[in-house]
Amino acid sequence: MPSDMNSNASGELYSALRGTFRGDLLRPSDPEFGEARKIWNAMVARRPGLIARCADVTDVQNAVRIAAEMGVLTAVRCGGHSLAGFSSCEGGLVIDLSRLRTATVDESARRARVAGGSLLGTVDAATQKAGLVFPAGVVSHTGASGLILGGGTGWLTRKFGMSCDNVEAFTMVAADGSLVHANARENADLFWALRGGGGNFGIVTEFELKLYPLTSLVLATAYYFDDDIVPMLRFWREFMPGAPNDLKWNLSLRPAPRAANLPAALHGKPALGSSMSWFGDNDEGRLLIERVLAIAKPVGVTDETLSFLKLQTMADADFPHGRRYYTKSGYFARLDDSTIDFMVASLPSIPAPNTQIELAYLGGAAGRVGPAETAFGDRSAPFIMNLLADWSDPAEDEPNVSWVRRQFSAMRPAMKPGVYVNFMSDDEQERVPEAYHERWERLVRVKTHYDPKNFFRLNQNIRPIPAAAKS
Ligand SMILES: Cc1cc2nc3c(=O)[nH]c(=O)nc-3n(C[C@H](O)[C@H](O)[C@H](O)COP(=O)(O)OP(=O)(O)OC[C@H]3O[C@@H](n4cnc5c(N)ncnc54)[C@H](O)[C@@H]3O)c2cc1C
Repeated sequence: MPSDMNSNASGELYSALRGTFRGDLLRPSDPEFGEARKIWNAMVARRPGLIARCADVTDVQNAVRIAAEMGVLTAVRCGGHSLAGFSSCEGGLVIDLSRLRTATVDESARRARVAGGSLLGTVDAATQKAGLVFPAGVVSHTGASGLILGGGTGWLTRKFGMSCDNVEAFTMVAADGSLVHANARENADLFWALRGGGGNFGIVTEFELKLYPLTSLVLATAYYFDDDIVPMLRFWREFMPGAPNDLKWNLSLRPAPRAANLPAALHGKPALGSSMSWFGDNDEGRLLIERVLAIAKPVGVTDETLSFLKLQTMADADFPHGRRYYTKSGYFARLDDSTIDFMVASLPSIPAPNTQIELAYLGGAAGRVGPAETAFGDRSAPFIMNLLADWSDPAEDEPNVSWVRRQFSAMRPAMKPGVYVNFMSDDEQERVPEAYHERWERLVRVKTHYDPKNFFRLNQNIRPIPAAAKS
């Protein structure tokens, strides 16, 4: 739908909603609108016709029902971190869940009920009061809903599984405005689809989450330079498949940052950043970390026991709102020498100081979940690579975007088909079936049942079967 049609429709929508809506209805002329329309990635900034900031679940139901009846293009926003910019739109409606940020913890049952607008920080703050954790992402200002619905990986993935593996139940507003419950016994197909299928089926207003006891951990970080980079990457590649699940070890190829613990002469030099977190027995973890740090010549080493809350917020400032970001991601079944050499050779061509190649190894508890158990894509190719460009000046869009595209195309033949939907950009719609592989047909059936007209389409979209094709 063209944006001018959406603008007219948003005016009508405003009139239809304002009598009953208990939250805030923000139009472009409202002073708050400029701030309220901002999403995390400035590359995909958009100007909706109306923002409906819901005060409760009834507001969500009314906004969905009326917008669907009127056919208004609608985006759903929790934390606004969609790399692809799906949580806003041109001229249409944004259903903003930011007033629905609560997490209630049942300590003895080790369960939490989390409202659909919550950030990861909302969840961590509530669960840590009871000494419990929910396995999720690594930046506390990320929305819990978008992350969980797409899958959700983070520091605890190898120990406790992906976020979506740890959801017991969902409450969802479907495209007709009705409230639907999904768990292992009730609407089991929807329960399966919501664990990895993203925002395709409706708006989740509440998650029931499984929690685990944990309050502190060991974290060691270091940088490697010059001739140490390739051997460390090879060591990591060989080590991780047999590593204990208590270890999460992430790597990043990037220009060395202007960090206080790095000598100024090294700032900007091609580097391999390493972050090892250990969630098991302290002494065992320290031995393992010492063993790794004894290899090669790590620089700027930090090694500390810290609280889970500190871990979960320490990357917040590295990924601020309002910068420009572009990403492409993929899986490798194994990292062969030529792929490692290619990654390292591409380091000097990185166009911006924060642009980087992130590497993580899945496996562990996440790898034990069967391919048919949830909608989440492939778990059999445990090496995840994320090419993340991160810059500020719009004049640098072209070199950053084309660097990511070039590196991705060159490495694509070595990758296993598949992609994590939450690490995709807005120009990769053709990769969505690839993300779900053999789960695709079942997802299409669930989508057709709950959202036959594709009202929820601003996402890595699973298109429903058209009505004509069904008869
Ligand atoms: C700084 C940063 C760090 C990240 N770190 C990680 C990480 O460690 N691990 C990881 O797995 N991912 C990570 N991601 C990716 C992240 O999972 C996705 O960007 C995710 O979409 C963010 O969720 P959100 O709620 O903030 O998104 P939003 O932009 O608010 O929403 C994105 C989409 O999610 C859907 N959605 C949102 N809320 C709801 C809801 N209540 N019901 C139904 N659908 C909904 C909609 O389709 C919407 O278009 C990170 C992203 C950023 C920007």
